[in-house]
Amino acid sequence: MSNNKPMPVATEISAPFWEGLKAERVLIQQCNACSHWVFYPRRHCPACLAHDLSWREVSGGATLYSFTVTRIPTLPDFADEMPQILAVIELDQGVRINSNLVGLDECEVNIGMRLQPVFAEVDAKGNRLLRFTGVDKDAAGLKTWGAAEQPVPVSEPGVARRQIALDDVDALQSLISETFSPWSNQVVVDQALIDAFAQLSGDDYWIHTDPERARKHSPFGGTIAHGALVQILQSRLQLNLGYEITGFSNMVNYGSNRLRFPAPVPAGSTIHARARVKQVEQIKSGTQLTLEINTHVLGNDRPSVINELVIVYL
Ligand SMILES: [Zn+2]
Repeated sequence: MSNNKPMPVATEISAPFWEGLKAERVLIQQCNACSHWVFYPRRHCPACLAHDLSWREVSGGATLYSFTVTRIPTLPDFADEMPQILAVIELDQGVRINSNLVGLDECEVNIGMRLQPVFAEVDAKGNRLLRFTGVDKDAAGLKTWGAAEQPVPVSEPGVARRQIALDDVDALQSLISETFSPWSNQVVVDQALIDAFAQLSGDDYWIHTDPERARKHSPFGGTIAHGALVQILQSRLQLNLGYEITGFSNMVNYGSNRLRFPAPVPAGSTIHARARVKQVEQIKSGTQLTLEINTHVLGNDRPSVINELVIVYL
């Protein structure tokens, strides 16, 4: 069972979709200028570029366009859902949605089969995900499929976050702070994860991979995670930044101004992170935001990773 399944975060643009699911309704956008149906949620119509979209309720009636069965979790957090039927589903309006099928045996799944929506309960706050099942199945009974195994995420998708438009220079500058955000969710860095990273990176030095030898000879009394592993695990830590930047067409990870590994992460440790905006600058190509992300072992004041990440919004 996992506490860290990533959950969608509603944005200004996508919020009506997620609110619709809470009310067990499928809402998608339609262009008022050319009637084109639009999914995923956008500001403008991809067919005619009109900025004139309306949200409309549809039945959720759909056809299976494509699927695959995954037996290896796409993230370790999904290990309790294996095997999972990942699918591309075509709504009757013609738009396609990536989701998964529930309540179906693999042998029952065929491309072109008719599907109905399942408004899957995923937490105690009323958030729902849109899944699908066969039209002969009990969609209402499948709403709680896996629900007991999906605890409330630490960072709450429903929490209102300050929306800041990229062209609002003063508001962007006001994000700069000496104070760190609240802590993110937590991730366990166990030996299996360290071994997997050793294999991937080729860095299989014994202080990471040989618990017996490390117990006897390492100054840390056991194996420790690679600094680079702890750094990239930031992707699994949902930072509670309290703001959302809107109105950009692309966001690029430009690297780090400063990267330090001040404290070890012993195998089996639980880590979490917090962040603060250190700098915001207008550059030729866009807006450059420097985020200081500090990752700590739970209970340690001294960070294990200090990463001053530079993000460019274009
Ligand atoms: Zn249009």
